[in-house]
Amino acid sequence: MTTALSVLNRIFGYAGFRGRQADIIDCLVSGGDALVLMPTGGGKSLCYQIPSILRPGTGVVVSPLIALMRDQVMALREAGVRAAYLNSTLSTSEAESVELSFTRGELDLLYVAPERLVTSRFMALLDRTELALFAIDEAHCVSQWGHDFRPEYIALSVLHERFPAVPRIALTATADAQTRAEITARLQLGEARQFVSSFDRPNIRYHIVEKNDPRKQLLEFIREAHPQDAGIVYCLSRRKVEETAIWLNNQGLHALAYHAGLEAAQRQRHQDRFLREDGIIMVATIAFGMGIDKPDVRFVAHLDLPKSMESYYQETGRAGRDDAPADAWMTYGLNDVVQQRRMIESGDAEPRFKRVAQAKLDALLALCEATGCRRVRLLDYFGETAESCGNCDVCLTPPAIWNGTVAAQKALSAIYRTGGRFGAAHLIDVLRGISTDKVQLWSHQQLSVFGVGDDMDEKAWRAVLRQLMAHGYVNVDHDAYSALMLTPASRSVLRGETEVWLRKDLGVKPARQQSARPLSAPHNAEDDRLFERLRVWRQTTARESNVPAYVIFHDATLAQIARQRPATLAELGEISGIGARKLDAYGNGILEVVNAKN
Ligand code: ADP
Ligand code: ZN
Repeated sequence: MTTALSVLNRIFGYAGFRGRQADIIDCLVSGGDALVLMPTGGGKSLCYQIPSILRPGTGVVVSPLIALMRDQVMALREAGVRAAYLNSTLSTSEAESVELSFTRGELDLLYVAPERLVTSRFMALLDRTELALFAIDEAHCVSQWGHDFRPEYIALSVLHERFPAVPRIALTATADAQTRAEITARLQLGEARQFVSSFDRPNIRYHIVEKNDPRKQLLEFIREAHPQDAGIVYCLSRRKVEETAIWLNNQGLHALAYHAGLEAAQRQRHQDRFLREDGIIMVATIAFGMGIDKPDVRFVAHLDLPKSMESYYQETGRAGRDDAPADAWMTYGLNDVVQQRRMIESGDAEPRFKRVAQAKLDALLALCEATGCRRVRLLDYFGETAESCGNCDVCLTPPAIWNGTVAAQKALSAIYRTGGRFGAAHLIDVLRGISTDKVQLWSHQQLSVFGVGDDMDEKAWRAVLRQLMAHGYVNVDHDAYSALMLTPASRSVLRGETEVWLRKDLGVKPARQQSARPLSAPHNAEDDRLFERLRVWRQTTARESNVPAYVIFHDATLAQIARQRPATLAELGEISGIGARKLDAYGNGILEVVNAKN
């Protein structure tokens, strides 16, 4: 009898299921419906791929992401699974030939764009074909309040009405209860079993460093921790994306730019290269990422602060989908806080939306200023309790904290005495007693606060102001050029009723021991050389068959080969990620590389 586990071993080459995969697969194989919430990289695809292989008929997968469809189909075919897709990128005759194999029962899996699925033509095909299941990927697209709303998703409820006997699985990485309720209601999944996984991504190491020279900090981080690796660098503006990409290239790294201002063809080209080639750094705005399931992204770096905890988690979640160690790294400074606060306040949203946006930003700021485990904070935000992780910068190097009450009082008084109309730079000059033209102009040298903070340098004051903002003791006036203002909470600090504890910023650390060593990291130099030779072999092989490198083998698989040096095909077949078809296709090629003398 073919079991789910034997399909996992034989076709996908993996030793065991992760998390709740086995339960989910069981549920579908026995004809039940499932709603699956799993973080990015959790392994959602296998949850519908394996039941589609096991059950008679074809599994129909609805996915809004065309690039992802193509790549999944490629990867499935590489593993010897009969898969195809139908979307607008196919010519009419290509589409017809796919439809024909579908109705003939020649496919295990068919990926379809939602707008095509609900057409009467496709419905007629469904009527004539044996169906294993329906999988609705990115199911949160049904939520009208979410960012990714797709009207066509609403129409998917028709599947249940017309094909009540076909099991359905809806999948998403969006965690909140409201979205879940909406998916259940709109897709009529009231009877479905819910599988909610932990949103922890234990292989991702979180670091948030104080910003002083962000580009240089980024370069150091990449050089130290990820010199050969693929990664994503997020920036807020298109211009910064362009400049950063050029700069990284000038530093000898391999970077490409991606933002909505680029011509579609160029964007596509850059995305394809990032997916297909090894070790490319994509410098991008948030326009990049949705539907990118490249498993071996080793780091995600933020040069600017995202707008919410949700964005931060989604963006960093693109690192390390293959479960191998990965880094989420961010530089963050006073200007980030000012900029994000001002963007919210100056927008024309209703006040209650602004309050929500500020609260979301506050949660992220609290993460940045955390004096305890970052992961505990992140998971807490998503409703999970966790223990200190030992795998974030705070756990690894706990920051010193100091009683900043007096400094806070000085800073708040400076804001108060100058009328809440000045930005950080001027306030710091006043605190430090520096008699600039602007100070003279406003006669601020006569204030009692002038010079009260000359015991601290500019950098230290910026850190104080930043943290006061992060903790809600200072706000930004959006009308007056980022003037800092007091908040209702400032009063109790000024009166001495509240103590303020601040993080002592540690300055920038070279990332060496701080970063997750990539899986590609050698245990010894010889393994590393073999690993590099295997990567070269993979690149050539991928190019010959015109597929992304990771479709052939993941880094983790190559790394394991480099460590174990299998001598026979049988030994090679034991390695995770090598199924029967791939062993057949590539086994001898790999053994040659392993045995080559150099
Ligand atoms: P998601 O869609 O949830 O983001 P994927 O389905 O793309 O995640 O899976 C993420 C990665 O993990 C893929 O590269 C996949 O091959 C791998 N993977 C999934 N399940 C397993 C498993 N049981 N053992 C080993 N690797 C797995
Ligand atoms: Zn931690």
